[in-house]
Amino acid sequence: MSTATALPDSVTAPASASNAILGTYKRQPALFVRGEGVRLFDDSGKSYLDMVAGIAVVSLGHGDAGVARVIQETLTSGLIHTSNLYRTAAGERLAAWFVQHSFASQVFFCNSGAEANEAAFKFARRWGRAQGNDNKFGIVSLRGAFHGRLPGTLAATDRASYRQPFLPLMGGVQIVERDLEELRAVLDPDTTAALILEPIQGEGGVRVLDPDFVREVRTLTRERNVLLILDEIQCGLGRTGHLFAYEGLGVVPDMVTLAKPMANGLPIGAVLVNEPVAGAMQPGDHGTTFGGGPLVAAVAEHVVQRLADPVLLEHVLETGCWLSAELNALMKRTGKIRAIRGMGFMWGLDTHEPAAAIVGRAYDRGLLLVGAGEHTLRLLPPLVMTRDELSEAIALLESALLDN
Ligand SMILES: *Cc1c(COP(=O)(O)O)cnc(C)c1O
Repeated sequence: MSTATALPDSVTAPASASNAILGTYKRQPALFVRGEGVRLFDDSGKSYLDMVAGIAVVSLGHGDAGVARVIQETLTSGLIHTSNLYRTAAGERLAAWFVQHSFASQVFFCNSGAEANEAAFKFARRWGRAQGNDNKFGIVSLRGAFHGRLPGTLAATDRASYRQPFLPLMGGVQIVERDLEELRAVLDPDTTAALILEPIQGEGGVRVLDPDFVREVRTLTRERNVLLILDEIQCGLGRTGHLFAYEGLGVVPDMVTLAKPMANGLPIGAVLVNEPVAGAMQPGDHGTTFGGGPLVAAVAEHVVQRLADPVLLEHVLETGCWLSAELNALMKRTGKIRAIRGMGFMWGLDTHEPAAAIVGRAYDRGLLLVGAGEHTLRLLPPLVMTRDELSEAIALLESALLDN
C-alpha cells in the first residue's frame, strides 16, 4: 500500500468475475490493480489520472505511505474489531478530535454516508419527541438533494429514477424548493424535526448554496425550533478549502454528517451532534456492529489530522481559485461548456453533449471523470493534486471535449 508495494500475482480477475457482481453499476472496463498518488493503473499497465478520487474519498491520493503505516501498526496490535459493546482507544480519540475541532459535543460513528444520514434522521426524531411533542418527526430536504439510497435517505433524495422503483419510502419526509419563502411555509415548530441540506449539492450537479441563503435558513430553523443538519459527506473535510464546509458559510449547524474522505478509502461515517441532540439520546436508541472500530478509527484519526493541516487547506483554497480561472479559460477556448460551478476541489461543468460521452472519451485518454446528472461533468481531484497535474488533466479534458 505504500507507493512501492508489489502486487500479488493473483490480482487479475477471472474473465467471468464481472458477471458475478450484481448489476447495480455501469462500470468502465479497466481492471485497476495499483494506485500511486493521483494515478491508477490497470492490468495492462495503462495509467489514468484520477479526477474522481473514488468519488471524493481518496483525498490524500492513492498508496499514501502514512495511511499504510497506520494500517500496519494497527494490524500489529491484533485489534481490528471488538464491537461497540466495549471501549477502544482509537474511536475515543477520533471523537475527541472532532469535538475539539468542531461545534459538536458528541460524535456517532458508522460505516458510510447513507448510514450517517439515516442515523441523523433518527437522532432528529428522538430529539423532536424529547421536545414533548409526538408529532415532531418531519424531515425536510431540498430540491436537487442527494442524501443516500437507503429507505430514509432515499426519501430525502430528489431523483425520480432512484426513488420510483422502491416506493413507498420512509414517511414523514418532504422535499421543497431551495427557496426561503417555501421553507417559511413548510417548517413547522410542531411537526418538523429537521431540515437537511448539502452546502454543495454533489449528485445534484455541484450546486453551491448561497451563503446568505444558508444563513437565513439557519435563522429560520432556530425560530421554528427545527434542527439544521448539514450533509458534508462529499464537500466536508477540506474539499472546499475549509475543514468543514459550514465554516465557509458562517453558520453553526445542529448536526453534520461526514463519510467519504474520513479514512482515505476505508469505510467510516460520522454524525457530529450538538449538546441538545446528544442530550436526547439514550443507550439502545441506535447501533452499529462495525461503526468506529479500532482499524478504521485509527486510520481516520491520522487522515483527519492531515486534512485539517492549514497548509493543505490553503493549497485547496488557492488552487481552487486558480482552477476556477483555468476552467473558465477552457470554457472560452472550447465552446463546449455551458456553465461552471464549484469551489476548492469540487467543480461541475455543464456540457452541451451528454456528460457520459465525454467521460468515455476522457477515459480512453487516461483521464477519470464522473458525471453528475445527464449534462454535468464533475471534477473531484485528490486534495493533494498539484497545479502541474491539474494542468495535465485539463489538457486531457480539452482533448476529450473537442474529440481531437
Ligand atoms: C456519497 C454521499 C452520500 C451517501 O453515501 P453512500 O456512499 O451511498 O453511503 C450522502 N450524501 C452525500 C452528499 C454524498 O455525497
